[in-house]
Amino acid sequence: MTLPDSSRGEYRRARREGRPASGLLLRNVRPLGGSAVDVLVRDGRIAALGAGLPATGPLRVEDGAGALLLPGLVEGHTHLDKTTWGSPWYVNDVGPALADRIDNERAWRARTGHDAGAHARALALAFLRNGVTRIRSHVDIDTDAGLRHLEGLLAVREELAGRVDIQLVAFPQSGLLVRPGTAELLDTALAAGADVLGGLDPSAIDRDPVRSLDTLFGLADRHGKPVDIHLHEPGELGAFTLELILDRVQALGMQGRAVVSHAFCLGAVDERRLHGLLGRLAGLDVALLTTAPPSRPVPALRACRQAGVTLFGGNDGIRDTWTPYGEPDMLARAMLIGLRNDLRRDEEILWAFDCVSAAAARACGFADYGLEPGARADLVLVDASCVAEAVARRAPRRLVIAGGNVVARDGRDAPA
Ligand SMILES: [Zn+2]
Repeated sequence: MTLPDSSRGEYRRARREGRPASGLLLRNVRPLGGSAVDVLVRDGRIAALGAGLPATGPLRVEDGAGALLLPGLVEGHTHLDKTTWGSPWYVNDVGPALADRIDNERAWRARTGHDAGAHARALALAFLRNGVTRIRSHVDIDTDAGLRHLEGLLAVREELAGRVDIQLVAFPQSGLLVRPGTAELLDTALAAGADVLGGLDPSAIDRDPVRSLDTLFGLADRHGKPVDIHLHEPGELGAFTLELILDRVQALGMQGRAVVSHAFCLGAVDERRLHGLLGRLAGLDVALLTTAPPSRPVPALRACRQAGVTLFGGNDGIRDTWTPYGEPDMLARAMLIGLRNDLRRDEEILWAFDCVSAAAARACGFADYGLEPGARADLVLVDASCVAEAVARRAPRRLVIAGGNVVARDGRDAPA
């Protein structure tokens, strides 16, 4: 920390006397690559941005040295409860089908007594060191694990509040109708504090999409919670299920409160069908989540933007029994979104960055987001000249501020 100006003495006096600093002044940073400004933080929020802000009171002062300033990054879709983060390498010899992976995970969990809360905490803190201050995590709810994962994650959410803002999605990973008792568990999960109701392939897994979606939307409606539905179903089957989802969003007035995750079908249907579906998604303000996988068809970012559909980004699982891959780094995910969508120009790479920042915050409903006065002071300093360079190089995070407090420096936890 450097204290180059007149508040230094007052800050030190305040520290000696045990008085808290009244705020933080970040000198000489370039918001999203623009001109250099100072940022004043008070009570955990951005109070002012501008050149040469005066330092008054016992302020903690940080010299940004002209670094690129980004808002706290947003992970729009992960599974904190599944990760093996912090454990030895998981040897993956799982069969190729979706059902193989689901069954394997349940068996592994039962065999190892996987501590979802401890691993989730380790991964959330790794995200934070990389500047991620908001996370939407799906959490398995099934008739084997019951609410065990949710309970672990609720404790992590509470412990990390003020640093990482975690949204929890009650997710029926093993299916809804095919495992009787799951709907009741989801009902309890929503009452216990899950923020969002999840879903999974109502046609391919439950094999009865109308009854499955009616059950799901009935629960969401009763609890007044948004939905976020995994839809891996391919081609026309997925498009058919997507229409059923949109019908229910429309009937229940859930505009702006529904997300469809993956929506691989939108990368496979023909142009006319695609435009019809994107038009409905835009009209109902239903957002799409993508991980931009290289191995599956994906909704195209350009087409979504042209149609006015919010597409945002997430990792999905990181180092779990499903995948050996993944980094808790949203600049890395933005780079993958850029690669998958053939984004080359700097102005296009900003779209990929939007997917892991403002678009994700908007789609998930994370409040007080951004680099404006009044927003929560989640600030990330990056060694890069501009946003496109930060994404392409996954540039190192020099400093991470969450809720107005410095939490990490050069990739390591910062002492309070
Ligand atoms: Zn997922």
